[in-house]
Amino acid sequence: MAQDATTTVPAEVLEGFIAEIFAKAGCKREESARIAHHLLSANLTGHDSHGVIRTPRYVLWLQEGKVKAGQSITVVHQTPTQALVDGNWGFGQTIGPQAVDLGIAKAKASGLAAVGLRNAGHIGRIGDWGERAAAAGLISIHFVNVAGGELVAPYGGVDRRFSTNPVCIAAPTPNGPLVLDFATSMVAEGKVLVASNGGKPVPQGALIGPDGTLSADPRMLYGEIEGTHVRDSANGLGALRTFGEHKGSGLAFMCEILAGCLTEGGTSGPIPGGKRGRIANGMLSIYIAPGSFGAAHFEQAARDYVEYVKASRPATPGVEVLVPGEPEARTRAVRMRDGVPLQATTWAAICATAQSLGLTPPAVGVPNTPAG
Ligand code: NAD
Repeated sequence: MAQDATTTVPAEVLEGFIAEIFAKAGCKREESARIAHHLLSANLTGHDSHGVIRTPRYVLWLQEGKVKAGQSITVVHQTPTQALVDGNWGFGQTIGPQAVDLGIAKAKASGLAAVGLRNAGHIGRIGDWGERAAAAGLISIHFVNVAGGELVAPYGGVDRRFSTNPVCIAAPTPNGPLVLDFATSMVAEGKVLVASNGGKPVPQGALIGPDGTLSADPRMLYGEIEGTHVRDSANGLGALRTFGEHKGSGLAFMCEILAGCLTEGGTSGPIPGGKRGRIANGMLSIYIAPGSFGAAHFEQAARDYVEYVKASRPATPGVEVLVPGEPEARTRAVRMRDGVPLQATTWAAICATAQSLGLTPPAVGVPNTPAG
């Protein structure tokens, strides 16, 4: 699929516009701003797949009642060191921080905490939640699934059995957080979404057809693709594949066990009646206060180790060794300064959603030439 032109939108203009769309769609101002903030944060860190591209789909879900405005977590069960919370199908950008803040509070009080979250609307880039815990001085580990959202074939299989099940591990250091955060599918679904909008193509073999043929074609997931219509993965006959053969597949499987079975939010499938309804994120998070291990110098030790790793001689001369979280921090600095590049189709779809709500999109200047 050919790549199309990009339009660069200043970060604050984009954030304000997205907030306006959600306010017009029925969210209170505070929640609209929070959704816009977290979607923009994904774009700023370079994860366009989890950024403002989601706006048309989120608005549709709100209109269809698949996600609800103005919700709060309900604590289903808790002890001083653990909690199981229900997101009540609220926006993930509202429910996510509430669940994470509960884990932070418990780990600050007891040194260690585990929080299971279920029935949350899409919680987006999981790195945001790892960064939130790191900002509070905590290490955190997050296993995530998408109940009702099976998209990924298991190792050795063709049929969808997992969702894209991200894993995130974050830790504070004096130079900023270390944030390992990735989907266990070879590419996140949103990257196929970006590719379907004329953005960067996904690698060959990221998708698999119903007959086992490896593919890079977004139609495997979405069926026939027409203009700006909201992509629906129920229309494709193929599946995404996990990264790392049996290892990535095993990690994806355990995400279902921890975030789906343990939280009782449900696994990605089987989908009742074979028909896709709404999806919800489940997440098991573990929070560790380094000092509670007697590790008074954890942050300094981590910083020193980062320097040691980065001092590895580059395999490609001139290409620096990076540690988890570093690419995101760099992209954030650049995009805060230069603006957020969006595929023309992505921008058109967001503007179409805005116009359907009676909003006039901001004038954002001349589109750039096609970008890689
Ligand atoms: P990715 O493949 O881009 O990997 C990102 C991770 O790799 C980051 O930790 C990054 O710091 C690190 N990294 C990248 N380049 C590096 C380099 N050169 N050296 C060292 N480290 C490097 O991520 P992805 O799999 O495409 O996932 C994208 C996003 O999608 C994630 O934020 C994830 O949380 C999100 N996601 C969310 C859901 C959900 O249901 N909410 C589902 C799937 C994915």
